[in-house]
Amino acid sequence: MWGEDPLTFALLIIDMLNDFIKGSLKIPRAEEIINNIKRLINKFHAYKMPVIYVNDSHIKGVDRELSLWGQHAIEGSWGSQVIDELKPMEGDFIVKKRRYSGFFSTDLDLLLNELNVKSLVLTGVATDICVQHTAADAFYRGYEVIVVSDATAALNDERHERALSYMREVYGAKILKTAEVEEMISKPQP
Ligand code: ZN
Repeated sequence: MWGEDPLTFALLIIDMLNDFIKGSLKIPRAEEIINNIKRLINKFHAYKMPVIYVNDSHIKGVDRELSLWGQHAIEGSWGSQVIDELKPMEGDFIVKKRRYSGFFSTDLDLLLNELNVKSLVLTGVATDICVQHTAADAFYRGYEVIVVSDATAALNDERHERALSYMREVYGAKILKTAEVEEMISKPQP
């Protein structure tokens, strides 16, 4: 049963979709974080903690964000699918979003409540856009926010580092490496 532990963590995998990793809006360093996210997925599965994919899924010709960034992650397209290396497994959760934040007009908050999740481990892309906006909404709702610095990526390193600092200073986010999160998950919770 989910959520029996009073301090349940959830792993959020944000926008690890074909368009962002290999396609039209490719983020140069995103390939480098795939293995770290895979390690975290394995860890969360081993400890029976929830793994939640938060995926852009836009409506063509409707979503305003498309005029800023061009066509990407159109619902039903190849570009909107999670990359083959990180395909969701049975028991994982999938939340579709149409804005940067995983909370905006989605049922992510309801899902986290029902899973009794208190702490979010954020991974994926882009650090300064969808990860940061999801972190903001998580902070507003009272979740502890952990951002994995070597399992997130932005269009360049400067944007990545700036977003990590911002989330640490403004949302009180913990910035940890993959190995530190693995260790944290393995420790018995108080
Ligand atoms: Zn988008």
